[in-house]
Amino acid sequence: MAKKQFQAESKRLLDMMIHSIYTQKEIFLRELISNASDAIDKMYYRALSDDTLVFNKEDYFIKITADKANRTLTITDTGIGMTPEELENNLGVIAKSGSLAFKNENELKDGHNIIGQFGVGFYSAFMVADVVTVTSRAFGSDEAFKWESEGADGYTIEPAAKDSVGTKIVLKIKENTEDDQYDEYLDEYRLRSIVKKYSDFIRYPIKMDMTSRQPKEGSDNEFEETVEEQTLNSMVPIWRKNKSELTDEDYENFYNEKRYGFDKPLSHIHIKADGAVVYNAILFIPENTPFDYYTKEYEKGLELYSNGVLIMNKCGDLLPDYFSFVKGMVDSEDLSLNISREMLQHDRQLKLIAKNIQSKIKSQLVSLLKDEREKYERFYSSFGRQLKFGVYNDYGMNKEVLQDLLLFHSSKEKKLVTLDEYVSRMPEDQKYIYYAAGESIERIEKLPQIEVVSDKGYEILYLTDDIDEFALKVIMTYKEKEFKSVSSGDLGIEADTDKEQSESEESANKELFDSMQGFLAGKVTKVKASKRLKTHPVCLSTEGELTIEMEKILKAMPS
Ligand code: ADP
Ligand code: MG
Repeated sequence: MAKKQFQAESKRLLDMMIHSIYTQKEIFLRELISNASDAIDKMYYRALSDDTLVFNKEDYFIKITADKANRTLTITDTGIGMTPEELENNLGVIAKSGSLAFKNENELKDGHNIIGQFGVGFYSAFMVADVVTVTSRAFGSDEAFKWESEGADGYTIEPAAKDSVGTKIVLKIKENTEDDQYDEYLDEYRLRSIVKKYSDFIRYPIKMDMTSRQPKEGSDNEFEETVEEQTLNSMVPIWRKNKSELTDEDYENFYNEKRYGFDKPLSHIHIKADGAVVYNAILFIPENTPFDYYTKEYEKGLELYSNGVLIMNKCGDLLPDYFSFVKGMVDSEDLSLNISREMLQHDRQLKLIAKNIQSKIKSQLVSLLKDEREKYERFYSSFGRQLKFGVYNDYGMNKEVLQDLLLFHSSKEKKLVTLDEYVSRMPEDQKYIYYAAGESIERIEKLPQIEVVSDKGYEILYLTDDIDEFALKVIMTYKEKEFKSVSSGDLGIEADTDKEQSESEESANKELFDSMQGFLAGKVTKVKASKRLKTHPVCLSTEGELTIEMEKILKAMPS
């Protein structure tokens, strides 16, 4: 039988397909399973419009069979099948998607369950196979046909035998080479894990015969093999279920199954967005800081699914840096993917989803802060630093989002307080939000400078984290109140008469101050009288914007 040539463009595409579009070989299985699932969906849609046809869900499944001896991997489905014309058109022309045409012809607005649209996924089979044989019998026909190809040099189509409607794809798996391993695609356990990873939520059962070896009864060194058919996928994704059906434990199990973390999550968010952009998401706020969290190695991101099929393990674009601790997944039907699915277009939908997610995380944190303070403080001790960096980075662009999530130690009741709590109880005559920076609360409490402020009955924020003061500088004002370091020159407390008084004290003691300044040359720029001291004889203060603590940090930074 004469071999037909792929169209010229197809040849080039096929080559590209095998060598560069996909980054991982294992995804061939995802593509073939997605096609099989699409083919079953088409049966389902057919049944919807055809009264003579009943769709029994039990009759529809996908079966994977690995044959190590013959090096074949077979994927069989009970879907709609292909006529010889369809074999020719859909498999003979790369980048032609029968599924896209089906969606268009049937005007399936809710035909969105069908995954295929680019017409290239099928060819990923050639990444792992030397020969691909597709035997198919179309619905409504009693004849079957076989399409076979060894890759770029063409394909044949000829009549074949097949008992039932559907498609059977046999891959002759490549031999191992020095650089590449292919044996793994014949290993049942490896195959099962690939299915779990990418296709767990395909809505039809994906079955495989799993072989296990047990010692023969009454014998230590003889084994017997048993074969058991297993369904590999869990089919209904938890994120498509109703929140009311799910318990905290279900979410915790999902968190652990997915290895988002090994601890228990502190809180979860289940989003079912149905507005401008349609998506489902389950997000987690972890309790503990991952060991590499505050390092360059940490990679933020959410798992991204398109219609139940995993597209990306860590989609970083979905999370702003300041919420990089969030774990979880997003599934959307609305994503316009490009042909490889690996490379997402940075499109409008994705941006919309990201924006939406950001505000959901924010409101979850706000409600934790409001209603479950103790939990929030646990969260804050793990990730508060990241929020403060978030305020500081990007020149304060995100301060509106973040400033109400910040907590600082306070001189009042030695508790963590929010800026809002601070401002709401400020006495009327208090002009500024006061803060004092230092290595620890104990140290700050010994600072001479805090006495004047606390004697006035004003609350002081104790900044113990390097980043604290930088974050406040970026916020600049909160509810129209400026921040003021207790060690800054003008505290806004002394009355004008005090100023005159200290000036007169200064001229009276000019000689003493001059000689002190002489002793401390190079260490201080000026010695002057202070109204700020109560029980301490002297204190250090700064002029200008930077406090002593900030200067220390800036000096310690690598330049
Ligand atoms: P896509 O799935 O993006 O359309 P593929 O290259 O994966 O592209 O598949 C090309 C076309 O071949 C599909 O659109 C479909 O019409 C057809 N096809 C592939 N696999 C099957 C199958 N198992 N059963 C029926 N049709 C199939
Ligand atoms: Mg496909």
